[in-house]
Amino acid sequence: MKIIVDTEETVSLILERKYRVVGFECPEGLKPQILKLAHKIEDKTGCLVIVIGEPCRGPCDIKYKQLEDLVEALFHFAHRETTPIKSSVSIHYIPVKIDSKGWINDVSSSLKSLADRHEKIGLLTTPPYSNLADAAERKLRELSVSVLKGRGSKRLKRGEILGCDVSSALEVLGEVEAFLLVGDGLFHALGVALTVDKPVYKLGPENTSLMNVKGEAEKLLVKRLSMIEKVRDKKEIGIIIGLKPGQMNLQRALRLKAALEKEGRTVNILAFDEVKPSKLLNFPSIEAFIVTACPRIAIDDYQDFNRPIITAAEAEYMVGLKRVYRPF
Ligand code: SF4
Repeated sequence: MKIIVDTEETVSLILERKYRVVGFECPEGLKPQILKLAHKIEDKTGCLVIVIGEPCRGPCDIKYKQLEDLVEALFHFAHRETTPIKSSVSIHYIPVKIDSKGWINDVSSSLKSLADRHEKIGLLTTPPYSNLADAAERKLRELSVSVLKGRGSKRLKRGEILGCDVSSALEVLGEVEAFLLVGDGLFHALGVALTVDKPVYKLGPENTSLMNVKGEAEKLLVKRLSMIEKVRDKKEIGIIIGLKPGQMNLQRALRLKAALEKEGRTVNILAFDEVKPSKLLNFPSIEAFIVTACPRIAIDDYQDFNRPIITAAEAEYMVGLKRVYRPF
């Protein structure tokens, strides 16, 4: 998978603003390329580039606070600004593209088979893969498929989703027969498939065969409902709030705390930056956890934890604050 980064924009911003020290932050998939890019930019600008080695999970996980005394600007690659951030560090969002030339040929038979099955498709993607989604959209239209892209919440661009926000899918749900998600991994596709009652297909840079994830989502739903039942039995609960700027949701945690206490449970509010199983071992009296930070922790990584762990939306469903199951 070749990732193309717009170096010109980065160079001109550094030269125009006369930065002397900047930070480079990117998701894990881009890390193998980032050192080469940092050297290239240093050579062209004379500016010191500090590469942020910490994981970056999404636009909710930008480490500007920790960098305030270290850099003048932070260049954040691949994600888009979803929520305005106030910081003494200037934050620049630099888009990346995945090389789509060969990919569209590789997926053409998959798109043809999708076009044979459905006339109206809801197209979804995540920001790093938007140029692949554009190429798939053109191909589907050539195959006479009607392609719809929902506007979604303010944080999203048309047709985009985040792992915790599939509002653009919900917006066109009544008008399409199925969804196609262009992106990587399974987490985003499963999130959509757990939320909508239509087929959800997936294509990505690494997998060019059409995959309907509905079957996987149904298996996951059984596991999630069983996890909720395990938490329902527990007396002492830990509600986790995120310290990452875009993952802090104290009000949601407090609403859940009140509802759980009404049921006679003991509730502890715990704050973490990275939620890791080893950190939770320090709280052995807690029998189950609710994560109000990133839902991926409970949905993707639950097997790493030695006690039941559910998302905030699942907890709201458990205590009756929500009537319909949604993963987030
Ligand atoms: S799914 Fe998690 S990492 Fe992705 S935007 Fe939402 S909170 Fe951030």
